[in-house]
Amino acid sequence: MSQWRARRRPVHNSDMLATKEKIVVVEDEKDLARLIRHALAKERFRVTCAADGESGLKLVREIKPDLIVLDIMLPKMDGLELLRVLRPETAVPIMMLTAKRSEMDRILGLKLGADDYIVKPFSIGELQARIERQLRRAAAPAEAGAKTSISLGELEVDFERHETKVAGKSVHLAPKEFAILRLLMESNGKVLSRDKLLELIWGHDQSMEIDTRTVDQHIARLRRKLGCEGARVLTVTNFGYQVKMR
Ligand code: CA
Repeated sequence: MSQWRARRRPVHNSDMLATKEKIVVVEDEKDLARLIRHALAKERFRVTCAADGESGLKLVREIKPDLIVLDIMLPKMDGLELLRVLRPETAVPIMMLTAKRSEMDRILGLKLGADDYIVKPFSIGELQARIERQLRRAAAPAEAGAKTSISLGELEVDFERHETKVAGKSVHLAPKEFAILRLLMESNGKVLSRDKLLELIWGHDQSMEIDTRTVDQHIARLRRKLGCEGARVLTVTNFGYQVKMR
């Protein structure tokens, strides 16, 4: 699925110097975009900028960058929406850039799979340091980096490979089913309400008639696909869903 997942190549200093890693910056404030591009280009990066969400999406699909920097408030398609579309397509680090300070946005961004979050105004030095850290993490062997898979009982979910296994056997899940399962697994036993799941997975997509029953239908399919062993960890409360060992 993610044909341009983070490269797992050995990291040597000479290698790092020789490689120009590609970064796409989606930022509509021209001066800031120029500043970021200038600063990052002085390092070893090849930087390309887009000024709105739609062209950002096109650019990312075309360039297949090693890292993406996404502003949240963007014309045409905002950064969170773009993140929602991109996250299932690529495993490369995505960093959110925003003037919004509210805790909700931060949580939403991270839940949608952003790797890091920087609040404006920030120093270019800080941005560079965080980009370096994300690229190091992406290049490091999986076991040294962040959690890329979670197991619970017989259920095992690998976020990087987009793979789900029950008792060692692969189960094919549709993207939305996988996204729901991932959110639940990452919520660590916390109950997520139907409304919350709807908001996080479907966002403000009004092209289809969707409501909380859509969530229930997806969960029902998910349970069926996971079978008895896998579905044991997916529990229903009056309020929503959670995963935990019963
Ligand atoms: Ca903006």
